[in-house]
Amino acid sequence: MRVVLLGAPGAGKGTQCKRIVEKYGLLHLSSGDILRQERAEGTELGRKAQSYMDSGALVPDEIIVEMMTAAITRAPQAGFILDGFPRTVNQAIELDKALARSGQGIDAVLNLKIDDRLVAQRITGRRSCPECGAVYHIENLKPKVEGICDNDGAKLIQRPDDSPEVVSNRLETYHRQTEPVLDYYKSNGTVCYDISADSGADEITDLLFEKLDGLAKSLSEIGN
Ligand code: AMP
Repeated sequence: MRVVLLGAPGAGKGTQCKRIVEKYGLLHLSSGDILRQERAEGTELGRKAQSYMDSGALVPDEIIVEMMTAAITRAPQAGFILDGFPRTVNQAIELDKALARSGQGIDAVLNLKIDDRLVAQRITGRRSCPECGAVYHIENLKPKVEGICDNDGAKLIQRPDDSPEVVSNRLETYHRQTEPVLDYYKSNGTVCYDISADSGADEITDLLFEKLDGLAKSLSEIGN
């Protein structure tokens, strides 16, 4: 299965991806996580991305496309789920071209829809693990011990770009540059599912699993 998960910042993409990966054995490729890793390691790519990320703007397409198409080559037979990529129509076109070179394509797009007003509340309460990337929320998705990751005991942090000013830039960038990606996929006939992300994490997971079970079934029927 080759799937794209779209949605505004704070829609819950990271949390849902972890659950999807556990159930379907896909490779989770989050462009934001890869960029944060590059920054933590102090690589040239990480340094180039830094100022864009800190202001809530998008990192230039050429950097991202090269990084993500290289990462996709490591996907297992089961496939991959893309999280945070593509974020512009140009990235989506370049991704399609890269996949077509090995006779592949995107099987479906899952679009998490969330009200802008909920985004701010979700993001400012978000805490993440700097070691394993697990995401928590101070009210809706608490770790067992406050401030500590359930998986590895690391101290949870708030991402610097989760501050209210940067969040409003990220939302504006999302509406202007990323929403048209969904229209791109709809107009070229890719299967797209709209899923409401206003409810709790478990309800969203149920809706996603229902769609992905159907997709897995239809792909196995056509021998893909
Ligand atoms: P995220 O964790 O997906 O919210 O990404 C954090 C930041 O990384 C974004 O605000 C962008 O600056 C950058 N970024 C992540 N993915 C992309 C992408 N596909 N294209 C451009 N910039 C990206």
